[in-house]
Amino acid sequence: MQTHNLGYPRIGGKRELKKACENYWSGQITQEELVKVGWDIRIRNWKCQQKAGIDLIPSNDFSFYDQVLDMSLAVGAVPERYHDVILNQKNTDLDLYFAMARGYQKEGLDITAMEMTKWFDTNYHYIVPEFHKNQKFRLFSSKALNEFLVAREAGINSKPVLIGPVSYLLLGKEKESGFERLDLIENLLPVYLEIIRELEDAGTEWIQFDEPFLAMELNQKAQKAYLKVYHQIRKSFPHIKILLATYFGPLKENLNLTLNLPVCALHVDLSRCPEQLDEILNQLPDKISLSLGLVDGRNIWKNPFQRSLQIIQKVRARLDDNRILIAPSSSLLHVPLDLNEESQNSGRLAEIKPWLAFAQQKLEELGQIKKIALAPEETQHQRLLQENINAIENRKTSRLIRNESLKEKVNAVISSEVRRNNPFSQRTTTQRKALNLPLFPSTTIGSFPQTKEVRQWRSDFKKGRITRGQYTTLIKKEIASTIQKQEALDLDVLVHGEFERNDMVEYFGEQLEGFAFTLHGWVQSYGSRCVKPPILFGDIDRPKPMTVAWTSYAQSLTNKWVKGMLTGPVTLLQWSFVRDDQPRSETCLQLGLAIQREVKDLEAAGIAIIQIDEPALREGMPLRKELQKEYLDWAIKAFRIAYAGVNDATQIHTHMCYSEFNDVLESIALMDADVITIECSRSQMELLNAFADFEYPNAIGPGVYDIHSPRIPSKEEMIYLMKKAIQVIPVDKLWINPDCGLKTRNWSETEKALQSMVAAARELRNEYTPS
Ligand code: GLN
Ligand code: ZN
Repeated sequence: MQTHNLGYPRIGGKRELKKACENYWSGQITQEELVKVGWDIRIRNWKCQQKAGIDLIPSNDFSFYDQVLDMSLAVGAVPERYHDVILNQKNTDLDLYFAMARGYQKEGLDITAMEMTKWFDTNYHYIVPEFHKNQKFRLFSSKALNEFLVAREAGINSKPVLIGPVSYLLLGKEKESGFERLDLIENLLPVYLEIIRELEDAGTEWIQFDEPFLAMELNQKAQKAYLKVYHQIRKSFPHIKILLATYFGPLKENLNLTLNLPVCALHVDLSRCPEQLDEILNQLPDKISLSLGLVDGRNIWKNPFQRSLQIIQKVRARLDDNRILIAPSSSLLHVPLDLNEESQNSGRLAEIKPWLAFAQQKLEELGQIKKIALAPEETQHQRLLQENINAIENRKTSRLIRNESLKEKVNAVISSEVRRNNPFSQRTTTQRKALNLPLFPSTTIGSFPQTKEVRQWRSDFKKGRITRGQYTTLIKKEIASTIQKQEALDLDVLVHGEFERNDMVEYFGEQLEGFAFTLHGWVQSYGSRCVKPPILFGDIDRPKPMTVAWTSYAQSLTNKWVKGMLTGPVTLLQWSFVRDDQPRSETCLQLGLAIQREVKDLEAAGIAIIQIDEPALREGMPLRKELQKEYLDWAIKAFRIAYAGVNDATQIHTHMCYSEFNDVLESIALMDADVITIECSRSQMELLNAFADFEYPNAIGPGVYDIHSPRIPSKEEMIYLMKKAIQVIPVDKLWINPDCGLKTRNWSETEKALQSMVAAARELRNEYTPS
């Protein structure tokens, strides 16, 4: 029996990679220095995994930005618009790589970044490969080989991880019509074979191919592609050991196909989908080993050893030990690195710490599970097991997680219908009168630049270096200056800027009961962006208003409308590590009730426009179609609970970004927000066609400014995008706004871009009249 790992967090325990990347981008460190930070992290990670008792340690799971973009570079899938970046002798492959991720605005070039979207149902974002008809590929970078060689130098015979060729194509997007991206498999496969050749020549024993699409519905073409690819690889490399990794969902109807692929080992997610085990054991061919994804790679709860041991026992009854591997269910990219960093000895986290396991602890758990499974009679192993049983039991029975009065309230909303008093068509008239906004109202999504100073104040306040009074004064000053700037820019609907928020989920979680917070529990979200998801461990309650004071203060400074800014229940759920002892739906409805109380307080304080952000709505959707409806039903319900009872005149906005919306439009319409602002600019408004085809009934603000890129769009560009929108959406339903919040941008970029945006709105108003 071997332990192995599918992937490890790569940002570094102190977020070294984030800092090094950002310092490199701003010209403060050299590329050599950045590259060194990258190797230091990798080597440290490998050694940690070795120490934890992992037999097969992954390599090429590291990335400077994103593993899908790494794959694009490896196979030379570099879109044509970057060729000038390549031609510039000064630029290295890494510069090209960052240009693809972030756009390139230098030396008279102005090149947009590649699109970004969420990795399956996680909050990790990957860079979407771009495909053209008859596209050719070539071996472009040898990152996998280099990592393998460096790992070996460090004494580790690693298992390189590659995104499997079929999943790689499926993750991408066709950039022209007249072909399907899977058609490119003929051109792509030879490059994969070259990569494998390099690795085999270097002495690789195992290669892990990640094929998460095997856990999703596949059409015939994809099924054929799988057979073709893996038979060809086997034919070309009869000796290399292929571990095929699936995760996040069950194989279901693809089981037969999967077991017909000539691979050495199959990894399955038994944390999320334990029910698939029996069927797999019944059908598993003798030649294939089974990797059991036992330890949850997506959540931070301690593994219940008894459950894992039962599974192992069942498998051992059918398979020889040498055909069994045990592993986390997925890459550990999605959990924080090390619980030992959380040294606080008081507060909620300290109380619930015995219930938790982060990446490092999960690997230790695997080592322990293996030991206990192989020699259960040893006293030391019995002690390990008993300790685990105690921790699991302690959590189950803890008084910290229950608030009995809530049950009734949740039950009451479960059985009731929640909706606004009147339909949108009627509300919109009321709101038009009440709000008196121009055509194409301009607004932003909520946050304004989180400057060094703002972050410093918050950290000073948290560390007790300044008083609450001092902190409040500083934040208020920043709000006031932001209101002034927005007035000077002549935006129509203003925001307070979210300076008091470190993060849109953490801020609310900190004020709600039922949440705990880590100090260092960072998880990569995209590129150098990391998030610190709260831990939602118990029943939710909102003891007092969370945003009313800041919003009211901002509103008191201006005659324009200030939009209240809340994070919606689904996003609070989705971006937290959520308790697994009750259905997620129940937890989400609890969150909806908490936000509802905030909405009511904002309305009572005279805030006429309230935005309830739900950027995570789509990513919470189960990957399997048959489970999606149930999810959407309760998710939409939780959102509607959040605004239940507001007056017609109160305008409810929602905001979503960086996901595929086409297949959830019906649900988005059912959310019945008066206005939805969505990210659109990277896809050049493609998304709007779907809204138009669907005849989306309410108002829409399509993003015209890609806020993930430092490049500043021109007025003309924004007009061009808006005109594309005008072609498909009635003018009086359109708003103009950036793609998302501006917290990651600096003030100078922000002001320039918004100036163009407001100018664009003005020009459009001259050209169009309300329909
Ligand atoms: N209101 C949030 C902000 O502007 C929305 C962020 C998001 O969609 N991720 O920062
Ligand atoms: Zn957003």
